[in-house]
Amino acid sequence: MRERALVLFSGGQDSTTCLAWALANFARVETIGFRYGQRHAVELDCRPVVIAELRKRFPAWARKLGDDHVLDLDVIRSLGATAMTHDVAIGMTESGLPNTFVPGRNLLFFTAAAALAYRKGVRVLVGGMCETDFSGYPDCRDDTLKALQVALGLGMDRRFTIETPLMWIDKAATFKMAEELGGQPLVDIVIEHTHTCYLGNRERNEWGRGCGECPACKLRKDGYAGYNAARAARRSA
Ligand code: ZN
Repeated sequence: MRERALVLFSGGQDSTTCLAWALANFARVETIGFRYGQRHAVELDCRPVVIAELRKRFPAWARKLGDDHVLDLDVIRSLGATAMTHDVAIGMTESGLPNTFVPGRNLLFFTAAAALAYRKGVRVLVGGMCETDFSGYPDCRDDTLKALQVALGLGMDRRFTIETPLMWIDKAATFKMAEELGGQPLVDIVIEHTHTCYLGNRERNEWGRGCGECPACKLRKDGYAGYNAARAARRSA
């Protein structure tokens, strides 16, 4: 069992699964979230609910859960409009990236998280970034985060490790990972209480809450369908 970790926890499916992963692998786990003017700020309301549900359903994890931190990074919104922070239609840009891409977001998140971790003596940062099934965000790439790990270590003269347990798996496998870590109760928490929809829609579907049409919802919906089909096949085998 490793000692301590700080999890970048947004209240979504991926970071909830990462939080469970950290609780299964570390003796002490703290969480950090960011307020940056996101359109789907409803995810900030989901964070304490998910944490409370984890405490309730998993007493062994409750004993490991430490402080939850929420930091203001409103500077992101003032740096320019994106479909993630402003009321503009989601689409592709000339750069080939979707306009939900917020330049520098994960770099700022990890830098802020590392600064907090430094003060708390925590050396492991955990994030739900994924290169397999993602929207093409360059700050979710493994190479970006490996480079950032080196930069943070040099810049703070402290050896940090960035763990990304979802980096090479798709959304269906993320559902399966939740099942392996916490069984049906954890899958239920992911479906009922986490938030992923870019538009902040909280409509309840079989696969979770959201509009069902935005890129984040589509990924999650397809992932759940894949997970469910594989699960049904396993059960009938
Ligand atoms: Zn949506």
